[in-house]
Amino acid sequence: MGLDDIRGRIAAAERAAGRAAGSVTLIAVSKVQPADRIEAVLGAGQRVFGENYVQEAQGKWPGWRERFDGVELHMIGPLQSNKAKAAVELFDAIHTLDRISLARKLAHQVAEQGRSPQLFVQVNTGDEPQKAGILADELPGFLVSCRDLGLSPEGLMCIPPEDEDPVPHFRLLRRLADENGLALLSMGMSADFEAAIAEGATHVRVGSAIFGARSYGQTVKSTGPLV
Ligand SMILES: *Cc1c(COP(=O)(O)O)cnc(C)c1O
Repeated sequence: MGLDDIRGRIAAAERAAGRAAGSVTLIAVSKVQPADRIEAVLGAGQRVFGENYVQEAQGKWPGWRERFDGVELHMIGPLQSNKAKAAVELFDAIHTLDRISLARKLAHQVAEQGRSPQLFVQVNTGDEPQKAGILADELPGFLVSCRDLGLSPEGLMCIPPEDEDPVPHFRLLRRLADENGLALLSMGMSADFEAAIAEGATHVRVGSAIFGARSYGQTVKSTGPLV
């Protein structure tokens, strides 16, 4: 299956970059994948998964969490403010903190639920008008606002523009993390995770290269990037 291949390629990329074995976390992106493919990957020992849609994740993960110990769920899709409660209940990490109104909602839920998912701030590294994310210039101020609300983002996440070399975007994200004292970098997908590891990714988000192509259509509204 694709999983073994991806694990091998991550290990090779860690070595090539002079990084410690296991320093990169593989997030298997399971959005809109059929249940049998996800169960095969769970069966092979993968425990960290990424989902883009709160409702879809709510529907499928509680059952698997009962059957498989140690599942860790990462929210990597755009998060609507009215889903903040469910997201804090369900996810162990949220990679798409991208605006102050969402930070307020998350802070409220963290206080209410006594549960603190790990937080990544999404940065719009390509300055794309249609894309979510904090602009690089606005990141320091945004982090201050988050901390004032009692949140402690630990990392940054980006989705580089589709038609560009991703490497300058990975470098920018890394520089911003270094400048702002953040340890974690969520960057790199099926097509470019090795380049992201060379640039310091701590979390790579790999979907189709593990599970095969996604078929959208019937169940899920695609508000995320279609790849
Ligand atoms: C779907 C998605 C991925 C996985 O994409 P692949 O190209 O299938 O690896 C990674 N990150 C985000 C934010 C996504 O929406």
